[in-house]
Formats: sequence, C-alpha cells, structure tokens
Amino acid sequence: MTLETPCIYTAKYLVTGNAPPLEAGAFLVNGGKIVELGSIAALKGGHSGIKVVDFGDTILTPLLVNAHTHLELTNFPQWAATAGEGETPASFVDWIVRMIRVKRKLTAEDYRDSLLHGINQSIAAGTGAVGDIIAHHGARNQYCDSSLLGTLFLETLGQDPELICRLKEGLAQALQDEVCGLIKLGVSPHSPYTISKDYLASIYRKCRELKLRCSTHLAESADEVEFVEHGRGNIASHLYPYIGWESYVPQATGLRPVEYLLQQGGLFPENLLVHGVHLNQAEIELLAQKQMSLVLCPRSNALLNVGTAPAGKLLQAGVKLSLGTDSLASCDSLSIWDEMAFAHTWFAGELDAPTLFTLATSGGAEALGLQTEIGSLAPGKVASFQVLQPQTTVAPNEIFDYFVSSPCSADIKHVYLQGILQ
Ligand SMILES: [Zn+2]
Repeated sequence: MTLETPCIYTAKYLVTGNAPPLEAGAFLVNGGKIVELGSIAALKGGHSGIKVVDFGDTILTPLLVNAHTHLELTNFPQWAATAGEGETPASFVDWIVRMIRVKRKLTAEDYRDSLLHGINQSIAAGTGAVGDIIAHHGARNQYCDSSLLGTLFLETLGQDPELICRLKEGLAQALQDEVCGLIKLGVSPHSPYTISKDYLASIYRKCRELKLRCSTHLAESADEVEFVEHGRGNIASHLYPYIGWESYVPQATGLRPVEYLLQQGGLFPENLLVHGVHLNQAEIELLAQKQMSLVLCPRSNALLNVGTAPAGKLLQAGVKLSLGTDSLASCDSLSIWDEMAFAHTWFAGELDAPTLFTLATSGGAEALGLQTEIGSLAPGKVASFQVLQPQTTVAPNEIFDYFVSSPCSADIKHVYLQGILQ
C-alpha cells in the first residue's frame, strides 16, 4: 500500500463527530492519520506549501461503523432467487428454515465471492469498520487485502457433543491467525437457542481468559424467549426437528434469555450483544450495570417481524448502543446511512438524529474496541472519511436531519480509508 503525501482536506462543512458542524473546517492528513484539525485559514497558515484538496459545497464526515453484519451472505438475494425462494417468510423460524434450505446448495467459493462483494459494498456505502460474523471460516482470507477495520467474529453453534469437540479444534486453529488484514478475529457463539449450554459457557470462559472479543445474538424474537424459558414453541416444534436436533430440545430453564446468558457467564463487556428486542426494564438495567454493548438492527427486526427494541429505555439506562445492518438475508442494503434513516422513523423519535449519528460513529467504534482509531475525525485517529454532496442546500442546523432524512448513501461522492481514496 502506498501512503499519500501530506495533504489538507476541506469542504463547506466538517462534521467531526466530536463537535457541532464546523463551516470551512479542515484537517491535515499524514501517513494515513489525522495530525491536526481546525479552520482552513489556520491550517493553511500553519502549513504553507502543503497540498490542499477543497471539496467545495460538500460535507466531510467520518466513515460509519456497521457493528453487526454477515458479509458472507451478501449474495443471499440472488441465491434465494436462483433457488426459487424469492419471498421472505413472515415468521422468524420459517425465515431461518428457508435460509438453511438456500445455504445447502452453496459452495465454499460462493461464500468467498459473496464476502468480497460485502466488503466492497460496505466501503462504497461509507463504512470504515465492521463487526462481521462469518460461519465459513475459510473465507476469512478475503479480508487480507482489505482496509476495513473491526472484528471478524468466527461463528460457532451446535448441540451434538462429538461435533462440538471437532468445532472447538477448528475454531482454535482459525483463531491462531489473530488478524486477517487489518481486522481482528473474535468468536460468535450464535445464540442461546442454537448452542448447547456447556459449549456456550466454555466459549465465554475462553473469551474472558484470552481477552477475545465475542458477539452473541440475544433476545431477538418471542420464539427465542419461549424456547429458552419454557423449552417449547416454534423453535422446539419446527426448527429443531427440521435440522435433526429433536433430542436436544432443552428442559424449561425458567430463565429469560438475558438471565440465561448471565448464568453461562456471557455478560461481560467484550461480548457484543445483538438485537435486544425482547428486554424488560430489569434486564435493561442489568445490561447497563454490566457495561454491555448492544447493536440495534431495526431494518432486520422489521423484515422478520420480531418487534421493536426498547431503544429509548436502553439509551436512558446507559447501555452502550450502536447500529448494524445485519445481513442481506434480512435487510436490503449494507448502508448504515440507510439504517439511520430507517431507525429514526422505526423508533418513533426515541433516538433523535444527532444520537443516531453518534451510534453510527463513536458508538460503533466503542462496540468494537476501536475508539482510539475511528468513530470521529480527530488528531491521532485514522483518516477514514467520506464526502457527501447533498442534492439540495443544507443549513448548518439541518445537517443531522439531512443525515437521517435523505438517502445519504446516494450522495456519497468520495470515500477515504486510512487516507487513501477508494
Ligand atoms: Zn445477525
């Protein structure tokens, strides 16, 4: 990779993520990092002779963070269409069963292609870091040539003790890599309803011991709550028989998903929780007390008809929030701009426009442990930014409303990752 020569970037507005929008703001980039930030007049005055790139009537803003996605499923819409499975089922369990049917026809090469498309689509959509889940661990090398930051969570799930022994070995081997390109490896025990209690507890133990980042889908659907608490419902009667797991339907635990996770040792800050749709007030307060991070995926929740996460209560309680698109099997784009616009309506104003921008930037960075590198434009952070060209005039006090009301993903003019134009 060739590093750029020092350069000052400026535009009509600079939205750093740390301060109100700055008119005629600028920053100096050297070696892929921001070294100074201020007004264009001050930067030009202090650094005469350095190249200046003026983007004119545009907005400069950080790249966003997609804290939960499955980029290996980016080609899912085409796969489903080819398999004659075009319609998205209305029920959560039917959706999982359909996904299994479609995936049975795929090869390792299909996942590799799909992951590469996902990486490229993410960057084009103004994303600089991802919390990506990968079930086909062999495809992870697609990240080797990518400049995306974040964590690649190696997914694992299962109930059969013999199979779990083999899974543990494979996982330990894959984790020896530690990184692929710039992305760090972590682990994702899929969810409380797809993994045995002992295996789940052993993964959390290992992650705490090795300080490995982890991510778990939690409290996504009413079906999950019923299954974990009572050992019955659609997951027990429909999903488990479909995949030959009838003999593994657990006894009723009497515990809701959050309590169940607590019992297995899963409530530690490095375990990034995803969805949190079905949470009561006591559970929200417990998550805050345990300093948990939670990724909200409103477009996926809407498509799968599982309900609305209590976003306002989570925010008020102090649970650390971020945004994720989830996969293209349950969402129609990998754009966090699109997710912000949808979330603004979906949560009925419980999360206002500046808050949604914070979730999409510094919230996502914190969720992935990257707060010193990305999430805002500031000296010392990587020069990962985008240039938006609004179709209509936007006043300084309208910028955050523009971010959630307009399809900003269509207004992206340039994307820079680590100082390099993509
Ligand atoms: Zn997911």
